[in-house]
Amino acid sequence: MTVLKCGTSKRNIVPPPDIGDCYIAGYLTMMAPKIKDVHDPIYARAMVLSDGTTKIVLVSVECIGLMADFIDRVRDRLSAYDYKERQIYVWATHTHAGPDTMGLWGPLIGVNGINKKYQFFLIESIVQAVIEAEQNLEDAELYLTKSNLEKLVENYRIKDDINGDLKVVKFVSNNKVIGSLWTYAAQPEITTRENVSISADYPGIVCDMIEKEFGGISLFGMGLCGSQSPIYCEAGYEKMELFAKDVFSEIQNIFPKAVKLEVSPIEIRHRRVDMKLENPDFQFLFAIGIFERELKEDNNAISTISKVRIGNLHIVHVPGEPFPGLFTKILNNNSEKEIMFISNSNDSIGYFIPLDQFSLKPQVWVDDIVDGKFIGHETESIGKEAAEVVRRTVRDLFVYKTVVAFGTHADDLTIWAGGTLKKLSAEGNKLICIRITDDYWDCVGITAEQGYKRNRKEVERAYKRLGAEEIVHMDYPTDTLVGVDYMELRKRLIYLIRKYKPDIVVSFDLNGTDEENMDHIITAQAVNEACWQSSFDLCYPEHFEEGLEIHLPGERYLFARNPTVINFHVDITDFIDDKIQAISEHKTVLKNWFHQNLLLARANRLYVELLEEDVPNAIRVNLLVKYVYGETGKKYGVKYAEEYNKIDAGFLADLASD
Ligand SMILES: [Zn+2]
Repeated sequence: MTVLKCGTSKRNIVPPPDIGDCYIAGYLTMMAPKIKDVHDPIYARAMVLSDGTTKIVLVSVECIGLMADFIDRVRDRLSAYDYKERQIYVWATHTHAGPDTMGLWGPLIGVNGINKKYQFFLIESIVQAVIEAEQNLEDAELYLTKSNLEKLVENYRIKDDINGDLKVVKFVSNNKVIGSLWTYAAQPEITTRENVSISADYPGIVCDMIEKEFGGISLFGMGLCGSQSPIYCEAGYEKMELFAKDVFSEIQNIFPKAVKLEVSPIEIRHRRVDMKLENPDFQFLFAIGIFERELKEDNNAISTISKVRIGNLHIVHVPGEPFPGLFTKILNNNSEKEIMFISNSNDSIGYFIPLDQFSLKPQVWVDDIVDGKFIGHETESIGKEAAEVVRRTVRDLFVYKTVVAFGTHADDLTIWAGGTLKKLSAEGNKLICIRITDDYWDCVGITAEQGYKRNRKEVERAYKRLGAEEIVHMDYPTDTLVGVDYMELRKRLIYLIRKYKPDIVVSFDLNGTDEENMDHIITAQAVNEACWQSSFDLCYPEHFEEGLEIHLPGERYLFARNPTVINFHVDITDFIDDKIQAISEHKTVLKNWFHQNLLLARANRLYVELLEEDVPNAIRVNLLVKYVYGETGKKYGVKYAEEYNKIDAGFLADLASD
């Protein structure tokens, strides 16, 4: 049974007096005034969740926005504490009354408003809060409660398109609340335009109230907030108190009614996305260095979109401010799931406007009013296309697939696709691994019978490490596939495809060259042929008597020793250690493989220290895998990658609509 642990902590992030001037990130960018004093303190609040294998960091920061380059610096620091990129979620609450953390609020036009000392202080505060939250980890139960507070928000684009979702999750340990996370879709913008005092706006007051009344540390995340303002927009501190009281009183109402949620499975889906910078204002800000992050060669920005799942709770992290309408269909299609959206998470790259609401001709980016219509959101978006990337990526984050991987020998899947398979299973997809041969003689210094037994045991361990739910051994004698009954082999493969109904098949590619291993060639032929023949209703009708149905896998990820077609890669950076551990399980196969290579080196009169010296095979694997897949990663600008010939719907995808 999964036991979830939760730990929380917070740090005051009001600029310390000795760091010099900070400019207030108010409503109008550029020529911003200096901050004068503090109305209410701002905080970075951290929550660490752990189920013993996966750790997740959530940090809410009371500031205007945090861009990807800042988040990278936080990730760098946290990597020293064994946090991987996909485990870290840091978001801005988007108060318009904090120090400039994005660069847009400088004292003069074209001058960056970031106080670098404050950036350091902020990173340090976040890191310290996370470390302390981790020290505070304790067993916790998860509860969710929700309401609708439509009456307190206004959509000033489409009056009746309002998202009033108020969602609260709380983590309870020994009947005590140790942490909570709440989302609401009204932008924190009740402070006035003239304000020069630090304030967290209404969410800060509400968090404070939750912490005082119920205990623990309370994190706020802005929900589907694009174009949505509080009813007291820019009305000042008195109204802010009123607004916070109204929100809090609803939270008071629903807090005790929270329903307990399952905490398993815990899963992270993390995607890097390429966003097109269409808006010339944004291009300019990058060009003059107001935004310090690097762009790609094609001037596109790289950002991230992610989903953290705990049981049936799905927390979606969006790198800007989505309009409510962007995800309407996704929400309707996933109504059985509890979904929380957090805006400005791990990046703050402007508004994401649904296509049907984007009312700006691409060539017009200048004025906020066009034909009497407010288009200020468009001018604060990077463009039309980015929103579609966000929408499609979020849609795909909710799709769960069955993956069937056909390997010929014990180590084929772990070596060629280990990172990909682990990533797919870690993201909640169902993985079935099929080994076609028995590897009975892939060993050295032991009998064939011992070789058979050991390899079978080791392959089970390796595939379990990859997250396989089922493992099938087809038990063809190794290195004989070229002589077995091909039709019988293909029939068995078709049977397995019809039984497991994969969305994705992973296996050998017919497009490889110079393959000496006939087992691999026969596997490539038989698997790929079986993939489409399994959809023929006249093909092996006896399968249907057993209750099976025709099936056609949607995608194939194909690998080869010397591939001639490569059109797809998978970033396996976070899974490289899993891949190495899985490969290292093949102790018997590895011993033979390194022995063969030693013979090859000696046959060429070479002295290879790594092979001649008494080095554990696990270390050899570590060095070789990191070298080979690091080289592949370089091609795609990531640390480690695996690459494939991917076959999918092809031109049909262009005809499709959703
Ligand atoms: Zn093989």
